[in-house]
Amino acid sequence: MNALNSIRSLTPVGPRINSQRLWEHICAMADIGATAKGGVNRQALTTEDTRGRMLLLQWASCRGYQASIDPIGNLFIRRPGKSPDLSPVLTGSHLDSQPTGGKFDGVYGVLAGLEVLETLDDHGIETERPLELIVWMNEEGSRFPPPTMGSAVAAGALPLADALAIKDVDGIDVQDALKIQLAELPVLETRALDMSGFAYIEAHIEQGPVLESQACDVGVVTGIQGLHAYEIQLLGAEAHAGTTPLRHRKDALVAATTLIARIRAAMDDPEDILRFTVGRLEVYPGSPNTVPGRVTFNIDLRHPDPDFLLRADEKILQLCAGEVEGCPVSAKVLLRSTPVTFDDRVVATVRNAAGGRAMKFLDIVSGATHDAKYTAEHIPTGMIFVPCEKGISHNEAENAREVDVAAGAQVLCDAMLAIMSAQL
Ligand SMILES: [Zn+2]
Repeated sequence: MNALNSIRSLTPVGPRINSQRLWEHICAMADIGATAKGGVNRQALTTEDTRGRMLLLQWASCRGYQASIDPIGNLFIRRPGKSPDLSPVLTGSHLDSQPTGGKFDGVYGVLAGLEVLETLDDHGIETERPLELIVWMNEEGSRFPPPTMGSAVAAGALPLADALAIKDVDGIDVQDALKIQLAELPVLETRALDMSGFAYIEAHIEQGPVLESQACDVGVVTGIQGLHAYEIQLLGAEAHAGTTPLRHRKDALVAATTLIARIRAAMDDPEDILRFTVGRLEVYPGSPNTVPGRVTFNIDLRHPDPDFLLRADEKILQLCAGEVEGCPVSAKVLLRSTPVTFDDRVVATVRNAAGGRAMKFLDIVSGATHDAKYTAEHIPTGMIFVPCEKGISHNEAENAREVDVAAGAQVLCDAMLAIMSAQL
């Protein structure tokens, strides 16, 4: 953790960003991997991803920014500062998308970051610290699971060798796919894996409906909620649907529906902050005229408060012990990812930047995970959300308004400059 002690409260400190240029960049990037339904398919380390990175590098080289890449393919674009040895103020996000992704998820944060760098150039502003724009490799994890691969490796949470060995469905591993991409990109300076910097601020679309429904300009993100994942299995007895009386059955599906209803009732949260989802149910043998002998289902559980999450965890495991309607139940915990709280000083800086522009803003906890989860472990981190239409994301229909993406980029610019002048 570095010494970011206090941040002056501020009125607007930055120059006006160029909202038209930002929008043009978003539209130009959306052409790469464009799908018929208006979205994009630009999965990590595909030709489309490479083309997206090339376009960004072109824009960066027009400004004379230095570009470098680390061993997992995270890309860094640096605008130098007056004191090159000071640790940089960072921003960034990702250019890769889901297979049926939208034009804004990830791309927006990268291009808002580029807009900050270019705005400073337009106004001849020299900063004390360098600024760095990071394009994290494979945030989505759709081609190569898990998500947030690049930032996880940089943070030391996922060993580089393990990540490089992960294969896609065609048997191509990350290492080979990365080699193919590097051969296409202009020659880049290489740098070691590293997760350090003075501060990191990521801009992103909200991917939920809250900001739009409350007519907010931006969201001040205070953290990322925790996520627990479970796999629950119930064992019944397969039997003939025509001959077996109901009282003689051990129907794993009937028992599973009872169990899910019990868990759902136990997850009731008066504040409606807890997220509880059963998104997959597998029924064996899956025949219309056989009583199901085995059912497995998955639970996705999220909440920003670690204690709340642990209490919910306890209730789930209690309910999934023993038998339900004669069917033994077993529960496997697949993941316990703790909530992340962003750095108070960075969050306050983002809040001041929004307030300084007289914007309507709201403190918000991110429901989705982001690369900022991993930066937050090593670097004072914050995020800025902008509203997206009906909260739709991971969908080709994903949309955001020009005025909102401009507002978020303006807050990013002001906040990065304010952090820059933080007293040490
Ligand atoms: Zn994203």
